[in-house]
Amino acid sequence: MKYLSTRGDRTERGFSDILLEGLAPDGGLYLPTHYPKVDAATLQRWRGLSYAELAFEILSLYIDDIPGADLKRLVDATYTEAVFGTRAITPLKPLERGVCLEALSNGPTLAFKDMAMQLLGNLFEYELGRRGETLNILGATSGDTGSAAEYAMRGKRGLRVFMLSPHGRMSPFQQAQMFSLQDANIHNLAVEGVFDDCQDIVKAVSNDIEFKRRHRIGTVNSINWARLLAQVVYYFAGYFQASASNGERVSFAVPSGNFGNICAGHVARMMGLPIQRLVLATNENDVLDEFFRTGRYRARTSAVETSSPSMDISRASNFERFVFDLLGRDAVRTRELFGECLARDGGFGVSPDELARTADFGFVSGRSTHADRLATIRDTWQRFGLMIDTHTADGLKVAREHLDPGVPMIVLETALPAKFAQTIREALGPDAPPPPLPAALRGIESLPRRFTVVAADAAEVKRFIEAHTA
Ligand SMILES: *Cc1c(COP(=O)(O)O)cnc(C)c1O
Repeated sequence: MKYLSTRGDRTERGFSDILLEGLAPDGGLYLPTHYPKVDAATLQRWRGLSYAELAFEILSLYIDDIPGADLKRLVDATYTEAVFGTRAITPLKPLERGVCLEALSNGPTLAFKDMAMQLLGNLFEYELGRRGETLNILGATSGDTGSAAEYAMRGKRGLRVFMLSPHGRMSPFQQAQMFSLQDANIHNLAVEGVFDDCQDIVKAVSNDIEFKRRHRIGTVNSINWARLLAQVVYYFAGYFQASASNGERVSFAVPSGNFGNICAGHVARMMGLPIQRLVLATNENDVLDEFFRTGRYRARTSAVETSSPSMDISRASNFERFVFDLLGRDAVRTRELFGECLARDGGFGVSPDELARTADFGFVSGRSTHADRLATIRDTWQRFGLMIDTHTADGLKVAREHLDPGVPMIVLETALPAKFAQTIREALGPDAPPPPLPAALRGIESLPRRFTVVAADAAEVKRFIEAHTA
């Protein structure tokens, strides 16, 4: 399998060439040259596999430059009951008839990002070892991504993580999760500023090409193809659990921000998984819902802060991949829309015909507000005795607006409620018990913390990196 860029660069690249990269050199995103089709016999055979076996089968279709035995070992080491809490890895939780949740949040940081990041940590360590190289991952986080990256990269040979977060602004639980890590290769930098300052510093450091090369700076952001690929697996796993045979169709509802999660659903559908609808749910930051309703994509200048903070985005960094497919893989047009139009006009529109075609790809959308979120959390608790987190609540609210008779709806559970205890309390009142916390995380808030406070200044961050990569 080879990979191309959505903006036209067709230089032949294999999986391991793009594994450690972010954007393609022409500013586009990497996609496989084609989506391998899974026929009925293969689908039938996969139905009986464990999660790790299934992951190996799917990854093997896209990775031909890592020996099979090595890939198998990496995948087996990643998707274990010890790390993800159950043998099924992503079990379903039934709600009312025809609707269920798929639990993607039982990994170390209680959010679905672990599903891909845990594999990425193992792939990175393997590939760097094979090349005899090291990599210093620089990132900015307001919460979920940073902790998922740190728990995936901790203790890995050849890897260091420098993670910037806004000092004192993450939730107490998120701070405890990240700052309690004592691994020597993990560096938490608490920046005296807001999240945008952290992102600006990462950009400034990355734009210093000489520094970036000399210190082997890399990233783990959501545009990484390997992350997206790892996420394709749980669409298949969810389908097999919700259906009895391959003649059946299912729909998925996906709480969305940067379009990474649902883009994996799009890939699964292109491979032939019988998906009826891909229901995209946004919070008040509704750039994507607006696109699927009107055909206009208007990037916002900044995101509004909401109670489903991991979906607070002003533009969706993975969206370009879907638009490329929507436009029949027209790289010239994709470059025009995401290069020129976005820079010049802050957005673009597609034609009515093209908008109509999004439905042929299964897409429908909706949005959810703070009041919707609270009502959905309360209703789910009262009717099913189940606590759900704020992002999953957005997904469930919008899912119910797009039910088809006879087609099971699988709502992706993207985080556990323990991460957002304050909003859960607001929804359920002071008499409800606090959201359950997995045993491994009890008492985490009283562990010793390891972090360094730095000014919102790229030069200071560079000096820190220099001093710790010698
Ligand atoms: C990251 C995240 C999302 C959004 O996923 P995208 O891939 O950015 O669309 C939704 N919910 C939670 C809990 C997340 O951490």
